[in-house]
Amino acid sequence: KYAQKDILITGGAGFIGSHVVRRFVETYKEYHIHNLDALTYAGNLENLRDIETAPNYSFIKGDISDTDFISQLFSQKKFDGVIHLAAESHVDRSITDPLSFVKTNVLGTVNLLNASLDLAKKNSDFRFYHISTDEVYGALSDTGLFTETTPYSPNSPYSASKASSDHFVRAYGETYGLPYVISNCSNNYGPNHFPEKLIPLFINNIIHNKPLPIYGDGNYTRDWLYVKDHAAAIDLVFHEGKKGETYNIGGFNEWKNIDLAKLLCQLMDVKLKRADGSSEKLITFVKDRPGHDLRYAIDAAKIHEELGWEPSVTFEEGLALTIDWYLNNQEWLEHVTSGDYTAYYEKQYQQ
Ligand code: NAD
Repeated sequence: KYAQKDILITGGAGFIGSHVVRRFVETYKEYHIHNLDALTYAGNLENLRDIETAPNYSFIKGDISDTDFISQLFSQKKFDGVIHLAAESHVDRSITDPLSFVKTNVLGTVNLLNASLDLAKKNSDFRFYHISTDEVYGALSDTGLFTETTPYSPNSPYSASKASSDHFVRAYGETYGLPYVISNCSNNYGPNHFPEKLIPLFINNIIHNKPLPIYGDGNYTRDWLYVKDHAAAIDLVFHEGKKGETYNIGGFNEWKNIDLAKLLCQLMDVKLKRADGSSEKLITFVKDRPGHDLRYAIDAAKIHEELGWEPSVTFEEGLALTIDWYLNNQEWLEHVTSGDYTAYYEKQYQQ
């Protein structure tokens, strides 16, 4: 369908990146997909085991915050497009170590933008696609939705670093004419999600009869989207999104954390053949996170109306697929929950 192209995907060993890499490698045989990832605690090449020998796929280990490395890489390989997902992505970690978020999310993005300028000058089809989050918009009260024109108002070091990187991308478009698109998505869930995030954390803890830590009173509200639907949206925005535009991506699927926890407990009781209500007893309220945003909710009308995107699964279907994946991939869970991660986890959730 498209001309032969070399596409750089950053952060392809992570949660969302691995789904995007797989989708592109499998769908676009005419492309060569270069996956650049530093393999931090969140990067795991096991996520891509099924496609790692595909002829149109290669892996590059490297750090986007290393300016010399990025400029050398871009002078050797003439990428036709960049899909940028590499990031420090966990809000709690950004509270204990904000600088590593500045380094990867801000400096790393600017390194990629600088290196892309030269390629864009020589190739009028070049496109820089920056993947971002709805958290840049700050918090909502009980009503309203984030649209593409909602002013930025980030509250956590994570969202501040993502907001900053979004601004740099836009500024490179305005100042240097770099062709870019940006999308801001709500919370993803699905296979390969690192178990420090709510849904896989709870599935994992229910399996092992460990407490389910809920921040504050559990009324924090998030919009949830199945990760493969986000990957489909990314495919669409990369190919069909208008230059210089932002697209909000979301599931029209808002849940209070406490209600989501209860739903997961019910689904897991059935799956694990446990007595009704036994998993719910694991719910434990813990001290709130500082600067916690009450509610995020995305208006995804623009991508729906302009590009025809909509989620392909309901929340119930997506959760069932996710739970089955975690139950069938206990080995993956054991690998990622050992070592450094365990020490971090214990420090974070001490009550
Ligand atoms: P993740 O933490 O699972 O993966 C991030 C990947 O980036 C990892 O493979 C990691 O090794 C790599 N990485 C980190 N620092 C790097 C560096 N300095 N150089 C090279 N690689 C590095 O994150 P995710 O949840 O898959 O998120 C991917 C992107 O999508 C991020 O930009 C995030 O802000 C955005 N996003 C995530 C969500 C969500 O719900 N998870 C929602 C909206 C947007």
